[in-house]
Amino acid sequence: MSDEKLHKHYSDFENILKRAKKDFELKWKEDFKPNSKLSEFSILRTLGTGSFGRVVLVKRKSKEDELYAMKMMEKSHVVKTRQVQHTLSEIRIMDAVRFEFLVYLEYFFKDNVYLFLVMPFINGGEMFSHLREMKKFDETLAKFYASQVILAFEYLHFLGLVYRDLKPENILIDVDGYIKITDYGFCKKVDDQRTYTLCGTPEYLAPEIILSQGYNKSVDWWSLGILIYEMNAGFPPFYAREPMKIYEKIVSGRYQVPQHFSKALRDLIHNILQVDRSKRYGILKGGAKDVKGHEWFKSIDWEGILSRKVKPIYKPRVKGSDDSTNFEYYEEEPFRVSDKDEYSEEFASFNSDIVPIQRGPNSILRRSVAVTS
Ligand code: AMP
Repeated sequence: MSDEKLHKHYSDFENILKRAKKDFELKWKEDFKPNSKLSEFSILRTLGTGSFGRVVLVKRKSKEDELYAMKMMEKSHVVKTRQVQHTLSEIRIMDAVRFEFLVYLEYFFKDNVYLFLVMPFINGGEMFSHLREMKKFDETLAKFYASQVILAFEYLHFLGLVYRDLKPENILIDVDGYIKITDYGFCKKVDDQRTYTLCGTPEYLAPEIILSQGYNKSVDWWSLGILIYEMNAGFPPFYAREPMKIYEKIVSGRYQVPQHFSKALRDLIHNILQVDRSKRYGILKGGAKDVKGHEWFKSIDWEGILSRKVKPIYKPRVKGSDDSTNFEYYEEEPFRVSDKDEYSEEFASFNSDIVPIQRGPNSILRRSVAVTS
């Protein structure tokens, strides 16, 4: 992209972000109310499991062609793992965000046992499965995906949010081949404050999280560096069986680079994976521009990506909108029922009446962790 086009993109995107922030803030201030109920959906199959329950494919009974992914979180589990605050935050953020490369909340409700988060079904599967199948992405494909993550991070950060759980398992590929980031379990509204919680996924944790230094959006840029490395290599830069060993490697900042990485790719990763935050791309004076203007992204048409005009070089095989074969098979489990509304106090903010609105197995090895609430 020429410098002139790049600068035009910077100023156009800033205007988009300013408008988006206004929309987000309006929604953020609104009272949050359940807007549907379980009996309106039929459950088809499990699509994936997360740290706090499962995500199932559902159909809306009144509109059979409307498919959604529904995350079911057991309230007792959320309370016992001290994740009430994270969960309340996840739901409110997911409800208020609207961006091309982010999953958002369509319906929310609860019953005596679970909280239900209903979102559009993204049927191309997890980036994780595609990456493991292809072994590694070539640099053009990795760049295409990374550019969308960057735009999504710029959006989230502009709203004062940090995401904190980037990894290929949380990136879904849609029918057109573009990405949607899902799972706001650790996403937090921090604005300009520092936060200290040790949370994320071991291989993707920034050194400042491990070292209990207060942090802000720096951790997302670090995780972008890890993702770019993993997409191009097929494995993450800091790896060991034991999480403690992973952490030691991360804080040392030493990693090896596969021979096939281009010079520009090595340079970009080197500038993002800086243990010293005063040197890390993404949070320097130039902000995201240091990353977007880097040599490795020279061929990216940022406007074309944002407007989805760039033709993806890879599209997942999807037969129809209800094709869920890109998702791994999971053993189905019976859902729990209870006569009593469990933990109603903890989730009291969701107690109001319904207000309808108008309109893989390997991943188990890489669980997100949260040590404090
Ligand atoms: P989560 O607990 O949000 O990380 O979700 C667990 C898994 O469920 C993800 O890794 C995906 O495989 C699947 N999943 C989550 N959201 C969606 C969605 N909107 N569409 C399709 N699958 C999803």
